[in-house]
Amino acid sequence: MTLLTVNKLSKSYDGKNVVKDVSFEFHNGKCIALIGPNGAGKTTILRTLAGLLKPSAGTIQFSNMKEKDDIRKYIGYLPQYPVFYTWMTGMEFMIYSGRLSYLSEAEAKKRAETLLEKVGIIDAKDRKIGKYSGGMKQRLGIAQAIIHKPKLLMLDEPVSSLDPIGRREVLTLMKELKEEMTILFSTHILSDAEEVSDELLLLNKGEIVESGSMVELRKKYQTSIIKLEFQGDLAKYQEPINALASVANSSIERDVLQVSVSDIAEARQEILTYVLKEGCPLTSFTLDRASLEDMFMKVVTG
Ligand code: ADP
Repeated sequence: MTLLTVNKLSKSYDGKNVVKDVSFEFHNGKCIALIGPNGAGKTTILRTLAGLLKPSAGTIQFSNMKEKDDIRKYIGYLPQYPVFYTWMTGMEFMIYSGRLSYLSEAEAKKRAETLLEKVGIIDAKDRKIGKYSGGMKQRLGIAQAIIHKPKLLMLDEPVSSLDPIGRREVLTLMKELKEEMTILFSTHILSDAEEVSDELLLLNKGEIVESGSMVELRKKYQTSIIKLEFQGDLAKYQEPINALASVANSSIERDVLQVSVSDIAEARQEILTYVLKEGCPLTSFTLDRASLEDMFMKVVTG
């Protein structure tokens, strides 16, 4: 079921358009990664969805949202650099956040207990936040963002400032939470997106340049490459190999003939048959795969 529809969203700062005509739809229960290099416009999109920035153009619509509704009711948002009152305990901070979301003291306390348990820091609830590790602070930030039971949880670069342990803690928590809610998070690291998200929105220079489910995109960009090495002059083998039905194209890089193929099994058969028939002095045959990472780098570096 559709949760959120964003239509032709644009945002300019001082006349400079940094988010350009962006449209997308989210479905309930998915985890979506908004991925792109620094400066692509990720934070601007998240802040606009969170109701903290006014769009220059376009619309943001939650399903069943009433016209006068405050969008913040639907959204939980953890900014890239959250500010915590370090003198408060985790519990005090959660109750304070709950009160800001109009929960009663008793409701806020109850909800705080449940969420601190859920994010795995209940044992530290009476400790001052100043004594928390980076990963614990981020987990507290996530708990605080969902205190009012939003429909969409948005996390801006939730793991980028963490050490490897904190990173692992938060990625694991995100995997657990995505079973219960829709999550949109930004990142500039593809492996983080691949690890937790079901869908990907790839942003570059304020525009969505690719989107789709992880499964679809992996399939789309995973081409196979066969690397061949021959004794002597390599160039003379390129043309006949290119002419084989299963070969898409090839290039010579250093002393290696790199052959892109559509069907790896068929190509292996064809190439080896050609090599045997012609008695070519083949010295090396290696399979390689291009991946989403290659696609990402290509888009990002132009
Ligand atoms: P990302 O989160 O992908 O790194 P941002 O949304 O932070 O990208 O920034 C997108 C572009 O908008 C950048 O060129 C950035 O310099 C610019 N920008 C962001 N915030 C402001 C602002 N408050 N005023 C002017 N320009 C801004």
